[in-house]
Amino acid sequence: MTESSSGPAAEQWDAAVAAVRALGGDAEIQLICHVSPDGDALGSMLGFGLGLRRLGYSRVRATFPGDFRVPDPYAEMPGLELLVPEADSFPEPALVLVFDVASESRLGGLAALVEAAPVSVVVDHHASNTGFGTIRLVDPHAAATSVLAEQLITRLGVPLDAAIAECFYVALATDTGSFKFDMTTVAVHELAARLIATGLRPGDISRRIFDTKPFGAMKLAGEVLGRAVLDPAAAGGLGLVWTYATLADLARHAQPPYVLDTLIDPVRSVAEADVTVLVKEIADGQWAVSLRSKGAVDVSRLAISQGGGGHRLAAGFTGHGAAGDVVATVRRLLDDYLT
Ligand code: AMP
Ligand code: MN
Ligand code: MN
Repeated sequence: MTESSSGPAAEQWDAAVAAVRALGGDAEIQLICHVSPDGDALGSMLGFGLGLRRLGYSRVRATFPGDFRVPDPYAEMPGLELLVPEADSFPEPALVLVFDVASESRLGGLAALVEAAPVSVVVDHHASNTGFGTIRLVDPHAAATSVLAEQLITRLGVPLDAAIAECFYVALATDTGSFKFDMTTVAVHELAARLIATGLRPGDISRRIFDTKPFGAMKLAGEVLGRAVLDPAAAGGLGLVWTYATLADLARHAQPPYVLDTLIDPVRSVAEADVTVLVKEIADGQWAVSLRSKGAVDVSRLAISQGGGGHRLAAGFTGHGAAGDVVATVRRLLDDYLT
């Protein structure tokens, strides 16, 4: 099986290439990724930004909405010099490119900038992508947004160098769970091989982005995992495991919110549950809900029903009220989205 049969239409690729080539070297180009950026959001955006610089575009800025903090695991990513706080985005860029963003709700205050831009290229791989933007490079079968970003810079004639490759590699490794998830195809490994061939050291990168955490984050994880609840009757008897983390938990261990981003992984390894829910407090009575399934439930559809989005087996939404009530709502909805 190959992936070449799906993916963005040829006209969309051509339109994206033409949109970049139409610009003069001093045109203002704004890159945007999603709120609380992960490795794919930052890596696809910054790798592409470096590609634009190689093409001679001198005025490239990258940003994301909300709390302007780059998680420590990505603090050494190449291209960070392109990053500016949301408020320092170009007010009227000639071109906007949006990376790893399923819907405008993930753009916060930057949605208006995308809306107003003469041309907006959306580069994304979410099944729940809402179809915003004037040019859409959206492929729900792509393992990461960086798969599409790499194709676009290649079509623009930029050869991969080590800095661009590191950005795309971090993105690819993040969204494939270190080359473990279902979408880890032959093409994904071939892309990884091309990236590594620029001189990357995958061991160093993995240690930095997956296997390094502050002592406090480890202790916090211990508490959050310790309070996990197993509900074997949920999801049509296939089981649910869930836990939560509050802002008070973060404060007690003096940790920033991003340390919770990967905490769902040990929870979802529980054999007795198909579905995993991690509820993370983001403000008083507001929760970032992370959903995972091993196949019993289409969590993307469930998340969309709650105003969120994602992929079939990994999705999320913003919940309101008490943590227990948010979980009770999800538990009830599971039966509606059994596959
Ligand atoms: P997470 O659980 O935060 O790792 O997110 C899993 C997947 O769901 C990712 O592809 C996210 O982009 C997506 N996702 C998470 N939260 C939201 C949300 N509030 N709205 C739309 N998509 C989301
Ligand atoms: Mn992402
Ligand atoms: Mn992604």
